[in-house]
Amino acid sequence: MTPRPRLRLILQTAGAAVFLLGAWTAAFPAVQGRGKTEAGINVLLVTMDTTRADRLGCYGYAKALTPRLDALASAGVRFDRAYAQAPLTLPSHCSLMTGTVPAYHRVHNNGFYYLDPRRTTLAEILKKDGYATAAFVSSFTVDSRFGLDQGFDVYDDDFQEGEILKSFRSERTADKVYESFARWLDENAGRKFFCWLHFFDPHLPYQPPSDFRHPRSDSPYDAEIAYMDEFIGKSIDALRRNGVLGRTLIVLCGDHGEGLGERKEIDHGLFLYDNTVRVPLIMYWENRLPQGRVVSSRVRLIDLVPTILTLAGLAPPKESQGKNLVPLMKGKKGIDLPVYLESYYPRENYGWSEITGLVDGDWKYLQSPKPELFNLALDPREKRNVLLQEPGIARDMRKKLQESAEKLSSEKDGGKRRLSPEEEERLRSLGYLGRPSDGRSEKALPDPKDKIEDYLLYFRGNLHETRGEYSEAEKCYREFLRLNPDVPGNFVNLGFLYMKMNRVEEAVHVLEEGLRSHPDSVLILSRLMNFYLKAERDEDALAAGRILLAVDPRYFDALFLSGSIQAKKGEWKAALGFYRRALDIEPENKALRMRIGLSLAALGEYENALAVYEILWNQYPEDEAVCLELSRVYESLGRIGPARGALKRLLDVRPSAELGYAYAFLSEKAGDLKEAVFWLKNYLETTAEKRTKRKSEAEAVLRRWEERLKSGSGPREFPSPRRGKRPRAAQRPSGPEDRAEP
Ligand SMILES: [Zn+2]
Repeated sequence: MTPRPRLRLILQTAGAAVFLLGAWTAAFPAVQGRGKTEAGINVLLVTMDTTRADRLGCYGYAKALTPRLDALASAGVRFDRAYAQAPLTLPSHCSLMTGTVPAYHRVHNNGFYYLDPRRTTLAEILKKDGYATAAFVSSFTVDSRFGLDQGFDVYDDDFQEGEILKSFRSERTADKVYESFARWLDENAGRKFFCWLHFFDPHLPYQPPSDFRHPRSDSPYDAEIAYMDEFIGKSIDALRRNGVLGRTLIVLCGDHGEGLGERKEIDHGLFLYDNTVRVPLIMYWENRLPQGRVVSSRVRLIDLVPTILTLAGLAPPKESQGKNLVPLMKGKKGIDLPVYLESYYPRENYGWSEITGLVDGDWKYLQSPKPELFNLALDPREKRNVLLQEPGIARDMRKKLQESAEKLSSEKDGGKRRLSPEEEERLRSLGYLGRPSDGRSEKALPDPKDKIEDYLLYFRGNLHETRGEYSEAEKCYREFLRLNPDVPGNFVNLGFLYMKMNRVEEAVHVLEEGLRSHPDSVLILSRLMNFYLKAERDEDALAAGRILLAVDPRYFDALFLSGSIQAKKGEWKAALGFYRRALDIEPENKALRMRIGLSLAALGEYENALAVYEILWNQYPEDEAVCLELSRVYESLGRIGPARGALKRLLDVRPSAELGYAYAFLSEKAGDLKEAVFWLKNYLETTAEKRTKRKSEAEAVLRRWEERLKSGSGPREFPSPRRGKRPRAAQRPSGPEDRAEP
């Protein structure tokens, strides 16, 4: 959990809350009292990753097991045709949170983009109005390092405790998100809050908990949605339990859909058909919003910022490109709003053309080397491309698409995105060599539709890899690389496979080969740095880190790994420098803070080290490593009492051989020979160590101590082995196993 400046809990008295609730009798009070903030209105935003609208019961799916979402829809407002702006997690969430399209906020893909701090987020606006703001997210794609944490007091993106370097695959399940949220709510329900819950379960890989059974469907995707539904329900129950359900506006939506094999697309991001851009959208506010209303007009996720702010009695920001949906919810007949769509994923991840699109009126136009036109009213499943039959409409839609791109882009000179030099550098390194709009000549990129077999080849390779069929996987990846040599990611996939096969030299070789054709690729350099480490080529790793940090000074992994290599060399000052820069990006990272403490102790800055460990100890009161380091620093400061106290506190609740060992020597040092003997014996009896030097030494020490104890406690004669101990060399860090995934 990112520890941001935490405001003290301001508890409203129960009486005041009841009074306020009593005063809200009129329907839509927030709308009527527009401009005024009604103290106590909470907002709970729930985003359901990769959730297709047509897989929920309330959207007509017979096999669904989504009772909680269905109940919210029938007691609230369901939007039948809601669209995301992009079929990708980070761009879509940035659109949702800023009320602007990707052409405006300029986050076009996952992984290597960062939401500009100049953009205004929903959380920032609500925070400014006095809201306590907290986010509980469940996938690395929306990690705080990508900028969505703007405006949140608490941004909980701890996916796996103890995970040092997060990979693209870092995620956590719905139960964990719920637990974290419920803990926060128990402490903060008395405040006016905005909370964002992000559930990632329906995203690939579909792995519902093994004991979770779906009675009606054998699709693991459906089971993931059902599992998520259960914890969405529990989150609503938590609101009720805390007595705040009645004053909480609940907004639930998907960030994009999923291909599920339709048109051979398995996941999402490659195309812009409705199965990946249409999302569920439900709003519920007990006794405040109409019950069971279905809004049939077409709406977009960018409309949520103005809508939520209106309901909260606040004005939407100037830059918002969405429309307030409150009139539609009140039953006013509305028009279908036009949707501007894009995906740069095929371009940046595979080296194929990007796709942009516009849904306007009954028509949907998709721009790519082989453009398509669909009449959604007659052909909602987009089966018939009528581009040739309707040349006039196609021309008109193409023009409108261009105009929308120009109008919606944050660039004054038209919809063609102009990059900052750094961004250009970064994108170029991903195999992106500038678009035609940048005035550069480049070869025409293939249409993703024509590359679907290549895409499946990659998926087959991936499937083989998951099953441990490595040589089959190698064949697929080799062939994929041969057909698509211009994309750095393809070298990386093959490299990771070799790493899994323990063919470290080949893994390094493949990435070095990739680097020759893409000399400044962040993706290749970052993985190569890691591979060098595994090959014990520390200096090469440091060199790769230097280039990486020149291209992207905020590259967390490069900072952390450079620090670790310096620490391993005993260059603690240099290590600390890297670690501190990394801390700016990930202030909550426990492993990183441990390393900072270790470096400070190694530099003799014990008081500073102590400050680091004391905070960690508070946060992780049952963590053995934290406890041991804390006690070591106390000992170095000559504070034997607190050093023993910390160990004893944990020994009492979670005894372990290691803690007992440390506590024994400190007790001897403090003159408490009886305790020392007891705990050293305990260590010898419980340790899993076989015949180690340490163990036999401890046996000898124990014999002496027992002698002394028998003969009355004489002076200490055996120096504590803990004393003056050099900090352990930093462990060899292992890097993330990631590809760039949608
Ligand atoms: Zn997503």
